[in-house]
Amino acid sequence: MALTEFEAVPAFEHAPRTPGLVVMKFGGTSVGDPEKLKRVAQRLVAARDAGNKVVAVVSAMGHTTDELVALAHQVSPTPQERELDMLLSVGERISCALVAMAIVDLGQLAISLTGSQAGIVTDSSHTKAKIVEVRAHRIHEALGRDEIVLVAGFQGVSADSLDVTTLGRGGSDTTAVALAAALGADACEIYTDVRGVFSADPRLVANARKLDRVSFEEMLEMASSGAGVMMARSVEIARTHNVRLNVRSSFEDDEGTWITEEDDPMLEKALISAVVHQREETVYRARGASAATLFGALASANVNVDTILQSTEEVVFSAPPEDKTAASGALESLGATWECRDDLGKVSVIGAGMKSHPGVAAKTFAILEAAGIAPAVVSTSPIKIACHIPSDQVDAAVRALHDAFELA
Ligand code: ASP
Ligand code: MG
Repeated sequence: MALTEFEAVPAFEHAPRTPGLVVMKFGGTSVGDPEKLKRVAQRLVAARDAGNKVVAVVSAMGHTTDELVALAHQVSPTPQERELDMLLSVGERISCALVAMAIVDLGQLAISLTGSQAGIVTDSSHTKAKIVEVRAHRIHEALGRDEIVLVAGFQGVSADSLDVTTLGRGGSDTTAVALAAALGADACEIYTDVRGVFSADPRLVANARKLDRVSFEEMLEMASSGAGVMMARSVEIARTHNVRLNVRSSFEDDEGTWITEEDDPMLEKALISAVVHQREETVYRARGASAATLFGALASANVNVDTILQSTEEVVFSAPPEDKTAASGALESLGATWECRDDLGKVSVIGAGMKSHPGVAAKTFAILEAAGIAPAVVSTSPIKIACHIPSDQVDAAVRALHDAFELA
């Protein structure tokens, strides 16, 4: 998705910087079992002992969320979204209560809060709610009592219905960044199972390089083009509210990757920073409805549209595979003629340097062609070239591009 296509960022107020206040977020693998939960507690206590005010956001343990989704589908083929949110929000409540218990055993004060108790107020679109406001008074009170505050990630409460909502998969990142903005945190630290942001997925490219710094713009493009390390929306909020963001390992002491402003003098002005990929994305081709009607209907159906290409005869767009039911429903309701392809994935070359260097697109296509790969759809932003290619050629494309652009 091009930068300009992002929806409006929540207009919640951000606080002036509070020195010494830090938001630390731990992902599912970092809280995967009781030992790891205790290690997180130790880290939080260490940060508190170092004199910080500590707010921690935790994800659900390990694969809890996936298991809850599967459980719902064993009971109902089409679980109601309101009830799904009630169910899924439990995962994060479990881990934050457990970490709070472990902290108290280490001799510090701690309190766990649900998203709702922490004042994470959202709209009412269940399973992909957006944060509209952070009413942080309970957090401030707890910090005032010298407590380490554990906030259940990925969830909030709808201002209209007062129902529990969830923020979409990976949403704990968004909770953390929104809290960091609303509390004026010194930094928002995202603790994960990798050492930071890489020049390509290290599971795929053995010599992928950890990046010390990337700009918000690059990170945003990476996150929305398949880099699993952060939820795109959280980066968007961080950029808007200028939250200092650091992605680092829960298990090692490396500094990780800082996500910073584009004019940061420490930022390498690399031509290309990373090659990211998505193995699956559904690509639709539709005729017989105007772009305005079509995308209006897709938006109402909450379809997360990515690439859009329009010619006089047809509109081509892509969306995540999990949105297929919603997208097909919207297209059918308009009476559009349409078809879709499920055999495509996407490889994207991202780098702020391409703004001022022509020829990156030409080189990208030449590399793919030499590898025998023909893009089905191409889309670009000022800092990205994205090619939809057959899913089974994605791995080869990532390796070829990472090599040819010398990112190792
Ligand atoms: N537990 C949620 C998920 O698995 C949210 C998160 O981990 O950020 O998507
Ligand atoms: Mg995550």
